[in-house]
Amino acid sequence: MNSSPSHFDRGSGPDSGSVVSDSSVGESLYPCGRPLLEFPSPLKLVVLGATGSIGRQTLDLVRQYPDKLQVVAVSCHRNLEGLKSWLADLAESCPEAPEPLVAISDFAARETAAKDTALVGGSSGGKLLAGGTVGLVEAVTEPSEAHCLVNALVGSVGLEPTLAAARRGMRIALANKESLVVGGELVRSAVQEYGAEVLPVDSEHSAIAQCLSGRRENEIRQLVLTASGGPFRQTPAEELERVTLGQVLDHPTWNMGPKITVDSATLMNKGLEVIEAHHLFGVEFDRISVVVHPGSIVHSLVEFVDGALLAQLGTPDMRIPLLYAIGGEKHWPLDSSRLDLVKVGTLRFEAPDLGRFPCLALALEAGRAGGAAPIVLNAANETAVDALLTGRIRYAEIPRVIEDCLATSGGGKISSLDEALTVDQLARKTACGFIDRLGSGHP
Ligand code: NDP
Ligand code: MG
Repeated sequence: MNSSPSHFDRGSGPDSGSVVSDSSVGESLYPCGRPLLEFPSPLKLVVLGATGSIGRQTLDLVRQYPDKLQVVAVSCHRNLEGLKSWLADLAESCPEAPEPLVAISDFAARETAAKDTALVGGSSGGKLLAGGTVGLVEAVTEPSEAHCLVNALVGSVGLEPTLAAARRGMRIALANKESLVVGGELVRSAVQEYGAEVLPVDSEHSAIAQCLSGRRENEIRQLVLTASGGPFRQTPAEELERVTLGQVLDHPTWNMGPKITVDSATLMNKGLEVIEAHHLFGVEFDRISVVVHPGSIVHSLVEFVDGALLAQLGTPDMRIPLLYAIGGEKHWPLDSSRLDLVKVGTLRFEAPDLGRFPCLALALEAGRAGGAAPIVLNAANETAVDALLTGRIRYAEIPRVIEDCLATSGGGKISSLDEALTVDQLARKTACGFIDRLGSGHP
C-alpha cells in the first residue's frame, strides 16, 4: 500500500490563508501528489469494453505504441464483428504479441463465439473466458501479468472489474464513471488496501487532475466541471416533451457511445461526473460546481483560495485523456489535432438550467445523500436510458422514472459489494415497473 503523504493531506499547506474547513475535506482516491506506480515496458493492458467508443480509441493508441503497450485481455458484450475486427487490427499492428484472453459477457454471443476460430483459439483469437461479470473479472485476474485496466465498460457492470483490478494492485485508467457512482467508497478502500491507483479518463477529471498537479488540498477553493450543455442547451422546456431519439443522439461536440450521449442530453452525465469527482478528489459537493461551456474547449478548472483559476484546454479528442491515464500521467506524443486559439476566438460560459435539466438536480441530490441513493439514481437512469434507446419511453420521461425510483426506494448506508448489487437490482426492477406503466399510457 502506498503510504506517502498526499498533497491533499491537511496541514501540509500554508499555515494560514486556507478557507477550506477541515470537516469539508474527504480522502482523495486520486493519487494527487503521491508517486505513481512504476511498471516494466511494455505496459500490459486489460481492455474491457473494447468494442465501444473508448475501447476502440484504446486500440488506436496501442497501434501507435506497439512497443510500449501490449493487450493481454479484452472484452465485449455482444458485438462479435466489432471484436473480430478489433483483434485483427491488433494482430496486424502487434504481430509478435501473444493473443489476448477474450471475455464475451452476453451468454448467447459467447456461445456463438466459442465456435468461431477468428475469435478464440484460432490464428488471431485467444482463450475464451467465462460469460457475464465472472468473465469480466477473469479478464483482470487471469493474465499472468496485467498492469493497467482500461475500464471502458458502460454502466454499473464496470464496478466488479474495477474492484478486481484494485485488489490486484493495478493502475486503473477509469472511463467507467458508474464504478465510482455506485461503489466509490468500496473502490477507495480496495485501492488503499492493495496499493492500486485510479487515473481518470473522463476528460473533465483528467483536466482537474492536471490542474491539481503539485497542489495542496488547502490551496483549493472549488472544482469547476464544464458541460457542453448537449443538443438541448437552448431548447425551450415545452419542446423537450417532443424531441426525437435522433435529436437526443446528435451531440454537438463529442462522438461517444449511445448511453453517455443520452446522459449528455439530459445532463445526467454531468451529475454522474460530480459524484465521480467527489470520490476521486475527496472534495465535498458544496465545493464542486458545474458551468455550461458550449465549445468543449476548456475541459474543467480548479479555483484556488486566492482566486486564481487553472484550466486545461484542448480539442474534444478522448484519446488525449485516455493516453494520459494509461501512460501514468505523462504527455506522450499523439497525432491529435491542435487547438487553434485564434480560430476558437471566444470562450462562452453559462449557468446550467436545473429546471429544464432535472436529471442534474436529481444526481446532485442523490450524491449529497450518499449511501444507496446514487446506486438507485444510476440504476434507474440506466434502465430509463435503455427504455429510451429501445423506443419505450420519451426523453422527458427519463427524469420522471428516476425521481419516482428515488422517492420509493429506501436510502441507507452501503458497506459491501453485495449490498450495492442488491440495491442496484431492486432499483432496476422498480424502474422497469414505472416504465411499463408509462409505456401502457402512451397512445
Ligand atoms: P460504448 O457504448 O461505446 O461501449 C460500451 C462497451 O461496453 C462496449 O464494448 C460494449 O460491448 C460493452 N458493454 C455494453 N453493455 C455491457 C454489459 N451489460 N456488460 C458488459 N459489457 C457491456 O460506451 P463508451 O465507450 O461511450 O463509454 C464507456 C464508458 O466510458 C462509460 O462509462 C462512459 O460514461 C465513459 N466515457 C465515455 C466517453 C466517450 O467519449 N465515449 C467520454 C467519457 C467517459 P458491445 O459493443 O459488444 O455491446
Ligand atoms: Mg466527461
